Amino acid sequence: MTCEIVAVGTELLLGQIVDTNSAYLSARLAEIGVSLYRRATVGDNRERLVSTLSEAWSRADVVVTIGGLGPTDDDLTREAIAQVLGETLILDEEQAEHIRRFFEERGREATPRQLRQAMRPPSAKPIPNPNGTAPGLHAEKAGKMLFALPGPPNEFIPMVQNYLLPTLGAFTGGRVIRSRVLRLCGIGESDAEAQLHDLIASTNPTLAPLAKLGEVHFRITARAETPTDADQMIAEMEQKVRERLEYYIFGIDETTLEQAVVERLVQARQTVAVAESCTGGLLGNRITDVPGSSEVFVGGVIAYSNAIKQAELGVPAEVLATVGAVSEETARAMAEGVRQRFGSDWGIGITGIAGPGGATLEKPVGLVYVAISDARTTVVRRQQFIGDRKTVKWRSAQYALWLLYRGVRDGGCDSLLRS
Ligand code: ATP
Ligand code: MG
Repeated sequence: MTCEIVAVGTELLLGQIVDTNSAYLSARLAEIGVSLYRRATVGDNRERLVSTLSEAWSRADVVVTIGGLGPTDDDLTREAIAQVLGETLILDEEQAEHIRRFFEERGREATPRQLRQAMRPPSAKPIPNPNGTAPGLHAEKAGKMLFALPGPPNEFIPMVQNYLLPTLGAFTGGRVIRSRVLRLCGIGESDAEAQLHDLIASTNPTLAPLAKLGEVHFRITARAETPTDADQMIAEMEQKVRERLEYYIFGIDETTLEQAVVERLVQARQTVAVAESCTGGLLGNRITDVPGSSEVFVGGVIAYSNAIKQAELGVPAEVLATVGAVSEETARAMAEGVRQRFGSDWGIGITGIAGPGGATLEKPVGLVYVAISDARTTVVRRQQFIGDRKTVKWRSAQYALWLLYRGVRDGGCDSLLRS
């Protein structure tokens, strides 16, 4: 089954918005075994839209358009589709009623312009849109399928998940498509892939790697006749991945590393305090992004200057004078200092050179020391990160979270010495 995507919108051509919808859909189509042959982007111009659409329609088994279904004059996708199918738009009474109700509930009246969104070619059926007013369209003609989906991602993505993929999945084997993402930290994409080589070759369920900043994700997608069967297939694949890489997996689906850390701390009834230099509060910020973090996060010091490192964290003046602020000793003193002064179970210290300036021969940009301390042990790790200032800051906070996650999970700082 071959597919082409036509993304509609002058904003896309001007580079004002990025076509994340096409990228999202491409990945999902690959997972269910639909071959995507082309992606086109066309502006809000009827002639060019019709010509792009008819070309795609002449070649592919499935054409999906994105955007241009709304109420404004530059929303031309319905008209263009009618023209390509050789049909004249009619009003869908049920959808018109849906739009009227939508506005009534908000104390307004649907204008004729709004009701244009209920127009459809007679051979197309509307696809319900619970998150907006513009329904999608699904037409089948001469053994081919055409889908028109709205542009706003909060309307587009649910329609892909709840309608498009199940509909196409029926043709590529299995009516239900389910997926689950395993999130890993502390291992690079290629190392992880090398260990999962045989599993990545599987076609149903599929296992697809995705490299993120400081993380690797693996998406498992299964096609089956029933949700239970699909979930069973996912569980089996997950089990195989866990047998090999359990150590690195900190969460599934939308779970962030900071969420996983907070969850572990809550379970262990432990607290953490942070002493941050080069991350400038990013670590504390990420931890406090998690609802409920007040139970486990005591507070922190953004100790940017040497004076504050000394006064607020007790870093010895001699250490700063001899080995400097970016050093193993300073990171250690920061972690231990904040833990003792804040009375927390865990202390984190981060000091490094985020760049682009401030580097020396011995201390290049991206050199970061991260220390983690509990009542028994303090561990300091030296890392050399690559990237611009923001990236180095992010990676430093990420690395600190990863150390903390493992420290709490594996029962104390000592466990980090063994790894
Ligand atoms: P509306 O009813 O909001 O007008 P629509 O279906 O007509 O929806 P467009 O007018 O083409 O869609 O786009 C509306 C908004 O949706 C855009 O401003 C943009 O924020 C987002 N959007 C559109 N196309 C894409 C895309 N391909 N990728 C990501 N976002 C998109
Ligand atoms: Mg629009």
